[in-house]
Amino acid sequence: MLVGMMGSGKSSVGQKLAQRLGLKFVDADAEIAAAAGMSIPEIFSKFGEGYFRDGERRVLCRLLNGGPLVLATGGGAFLDPRTRRRIAERGVSIWFDADHETLLRRVRRKADRPLLQTEDPAGTLRRLMDERNPVYATADLKLFSQDVPHDAMVEQTLALLAERLPTLAFGARRPLEDLPTSMNHYAPRREEPLHLETVRVDLGPRSYDILIGSGLLKEAGERMAALAPGAACAIVTDSNVAPLYLQPLQASLEASGLRSTAIVVEPGEGSKSLPVFGRVLEAALAAKIERRDVVIALGGGVVGDLAGFVSASLRRGCRFVQIPTTLLAQVDSSVGGKTGINSPQGKNLIGAFHQPSLVLADIDTLESLPEREFRAGYAEILKYGLIRDRRFFDWLEADGEAVFSGKPEQICAIAVSCEMKACIVGSDETEQGERALLNLGHTFGHALERLVDYDARRLVHGEAVAIGLAQAYRFSHRLGLCNGQDTTRVERHLERVGLPTRISDIPDFGADAEAVLEAMRQDKKVERGALTFVLAREIGGAFVAKNVDAKEVLAFLKSEM
Ligand code: NAD
Ligand code: ZN
Repeated sequence: MLVGMMGSGKSSVGQKLAQRLGLKFVDADAEIAAAAGMSIPEIFSKFGEGYFRDGERRVLCRLLNGGPLVLATGGGAFLDPRTRRRIAERGVSIWFDADHETLLRRVRRKADRPLLQTEDPAGTLRRLMDERNPVYATADLKLFSQDVPHDAMVEQTLALLAERLPTLAFGARRPLEDLPTSMNHYAPRREEPLHLETVRVDLGPRSYDILIGSGLLKEAGERMAALAPGAACAIVTDSNVAPLYLQPLQASLEASGLRSTAIVVEPGEGSKSLPVFGRVLEAALAAKIERRDVVIALGGGVVGDLAGFVSASLRRGCRFVQIPTTLLAQVDSSVGGKTGINSPQGKNLIGAFHQPSLVLADIDTLESLPEREFRAGYAEILKYGLIRDRRFFDWLEADGEAVFSGKPEQICAIAVSCEMKACIVGSDETEQGERALLNLGHTFGHALERLVDYDARRLVHGEAVAIGLAQAYRFSHRLGLCNGQDTTRVERHLERVGLPTRISDIPDFGADAEAVLEAMRQDKKVERGALTFVLAREIGGAFVAKNVDAKEVLAFLKSEM
């Protein structure tokens, strides 16, 4: 990842460097311009720098999740802490440094530098350098690029890489002090009014935004009318959520000229069934919902999965909007387009990939959520830190309780979670590879849910995941993959926020180790008999392990009983 000021030679040297390394070369700016269908100066003048930076962060996220490449980043990209964190996780950053005079001479020749279109380009460049150089200086490697021919720069870069690469640590193995910033970027700024976070899920023509903030339910009509003017809406919700939020939603839709019909189902996992699916589908057809119309899911993951599958099936697919009202739905089930229902043979066995066109996560709806459901959703938030973001875990460990009570912390935690899920989904929509990481804690968790017959009084999904996360770490530790400190930290944190970590925490759990193993085998992630697990090397370092020996699993489960 080449970083540095405009004019430092990132693109031209990068191209040659990629050739020499036999890698693909991508210029992030060119990629952004292509994605937007306009030049960078046009994006700046039409939409402003903030908009450009958002797009840049998303494009880089996608590129960093792809295969190996040489990537030239725009001058400002490295300043974004999230991008820096991602680069630190996924690659080697190289700063091309040059002095003011050299850079000024080089960029004067070009008209496509929007930040330098000022009265005093020299002064502006100086100011930008003062601001950015300290951040560039946190890159892994540094090279001076003034007045060196490109070929020589390539040679120098290769030499530096050959010398330093073996000494650098990567990914989750990177020691923490190596990471560029402190973790303050997670800490929401309290003095500011509650802001709206937008996370884009990048899936080409099926891309969409997740909006996270306060008061979004009231704005739903306006936002949906912009997307589907005059559309008819079928709102699928359950009888716990309907009395709380249906009326404000319908009022908002009506105010924006959107007709709506409500379809209310019983709360709970039982509604993810073929009979209920059939009834909702028929009700939507009776309400004359056409292909261009919208099915809205208003509720938790149950309603989201059910309504999503209805929307995927109705006239071979109509538009879908998610308004998740549980924490679990806001950080997990509403993002990524997996929809479906259960079969007597197992959970989520019938379904479709069907992406929503919009997700509105209104954190105000969480106020009415029972404490236990909130905690369950928190387990999924924690999961993201465990998969691949140790810093996020650190923040949760230090400040996690604030997520339970503070709105800015909630918005922050939900946004970081959605962003990570969006990023993983964006690079693996239909779960061929990396998306499987999101199942951390779920192979164990699903088996437990199954063995209590999905009885929410005994165990809700997030609680099963909490036990599953602790088990994934204990199992990884037992296999000699993960250290004991991290395993203990995970358990301690789950306990501190009041989540279960052991099978013995489930009331009246009678099944033995063999039964748990058998329930795991029924999970759809079982491929041709071999057990696939998501295991962890450490906090922030999860990986997919195929062909896990059933004997090892059984021995572990016995030790857990
Ligand atoms: P849920 O939908 O059953 O909601 C939990 C309970 O909270 C319900 O009783 C509901 O009526 C109530 N509720 C919802 N919002 C409320 C609010 N604002 N105030 C008060 N009560 C409220 O359960 P869930 O935990 O949201 O979702 C679990 C489901 O999500 C499972 O079926 C799981 O398989 C699915 N899921 C799907 C995905 C996916 O990618 N599609 C991912 C994770 C989980
Ligand atoms: Zn889950």
